[in-house]
Amino acid sequence: MNTNYTSTRNKQIQITAKDAIKKGFADDGGLFVYPELSELKIDLKSLRNLNYQQLAQIILTKLLPDFSEAEIAESINHAYDNSFDSSKITPLISVNNFHVLELFHGPTSAFKDVGLQMLPQLMKHVLTPEDKVMILTATSGDTGKAALEGFKNLKKMGITVFYPHNGVSKVQQLQMQTTTGHNTEITAIKGNFDDAQTNVKKILNDKHLQQELGSHISLSSANSINIGRLIPQVVYYFSAYMQLIDQNKLQLGEKVNFTVPTGNFGDVLAGYYAKQMGLPVNKFIVASNENNVLTNFFNSGIYNRNIPFLQTFAPSMDIQISSNFERLLYYKSNKDTAYVKKLMVDLEKNGHYKVSPDVLSRIHNDFYCGYCTNQQIADSIATVYQKDHYLMDPHTAVGYKVMRDYQKSGDKTPMILLSTASPYKFVRVVADSILPVVPDDDFSAMQKLAAFTKIPIPTNLAKVWELPILHTDVIAKDQMENYVKTKVEDVFYDRN
Ligand SMILES: *Cc1c(COP(=O)(O)O)cnc(C)c1O
Repeated sequence: MNTNYTSTRNKQIQITAKDAIKKGFADDGGLFVYPELSELKIDLKSLRNLNYQQLAQIILTKLLPDFSEAEIAESINHAYDNSFDSSKITPLISVNNFHVLELFHGPTSAFKDVGLQMLPQLMKHVLTPEDKVMILTATSGDTGKAALEGFKNLKKMGITVFYPHNGVSKVQQLQMQTTTGHNTEITAIKGNFDDAQTNVKKILNDKHLQQELGSHISLSSANSINIGRLIPQVVYYFSAYMQLIDQNKLQLGEKVNFTVPTGNFGDVLAGYYAKQMGLPVNKFIVASNENNVLTNFFNSGIYNRNIPFLQTFAPSMDIQISSNFERLLYYKSNKDTAYVKKLMVDLEKNGHYKVSPDVLSRIHNDFYCGYCTNQQIADSIATVYQKDHYLMDPHTAVGYKVMRDYQKSGDKTPMILLSTASPYKFVRVVADSILPVVPDDDFSAMQKLAAFTKIPIPTNLAKVWELPILHTDVIAKDQMENYVKTKVEDVFYDRN
């Protein structure tokens, strides 16, 4: 048995990748991790002139050892086919003296597509013939649509998405409401994102409901802590590096830096996995918005979530607990699961924890961290557009600003900035930053931005305004469980 994965909070746990994907997280509340990443070294020379799918095959075979090569190949073919509008999947663009890795060419124009196109395909090979699974997702905008597109029309799987009524942007709402597929259910709830998230967790942990649904129907989540979302993200770090090699902009073995706009710490942690597997990386630049819990941690060794929650121009990074940071603590404490567990109990009980100076200094070896204000987001979008004619979304702009701060240290290592969304997905902030006058409605703002910049609107965002609205439910927040029950009936017993 390939029981390669364990829990960040208990090293006795040994579990296969398939079971880890099925369960999502460990019974003790810990996250699943691959302990011996350095045993998975990849020979860079063997990666020359491979396309994205071939790279993915090599990397996923290493990290998901209990999947057959055929299962991985099939998953890759379905996940990364013509649903991406770039044959490179994650193309690398050189801008001025840095490079941008564009992660937004998937079906919903956000980087979450890279993980959420793959997770459902892997899930297919995890379910037994009798199993059926309903995915529950609470979303503040981006995750919901990316998850819907990933799970749409898959057999034996359904997906129900809850979003806050009047709490997402017009584009995000339309993206969700126009979703097709026989197994996709979407409703607004009269409450905020926290209400949605808290109730989804409650429903997932409801033993009584599970009994009612029977042993072959389970409820699960598409949360970013699932290794089925994390592992596919390792691939684009190798892809970025090899694109620089293939374009003759880098020598094989030379080091690079990556700057990563960060919320839940999933994206940048995947980069750290790549480094452990042999990718030559000097530093990861972790960039937050004004919710700067991580920056404070880097300065003090104290992780304190007890600070006010701010709504910023980069809403997909408005977060106080970076869940995947627990995985970094596991590696940087030399896999001391008792220590990690203690820190996480402190965080739950008191809202903060403090790491030892050793752990902090090991984190500093690989990572730098900084943050960016709303004004600096707007300024960065304007500066880069005016100087380099490159249009960034607000999340990418957070990365840009912190990247420039870091470079003041004098480090001249070639830099790759990860771009996590199309600028058209967050059109309001982008248009306000560069257009002299901005129309009030988002559709006109998008048109005007495209006319002004000559940068094309991704097809899915251009078309969303004309598609028929298929989902209009709005429910009270205490009706979520009943909603799930009804939708399980509709999707799996076809009673509508
Ligand atoms: C989710 C998201 C992020 C943050 O990624 P993490 O893996 O949570 O750190 C950044 N930018 C955009 C646009 C996102 O949707």
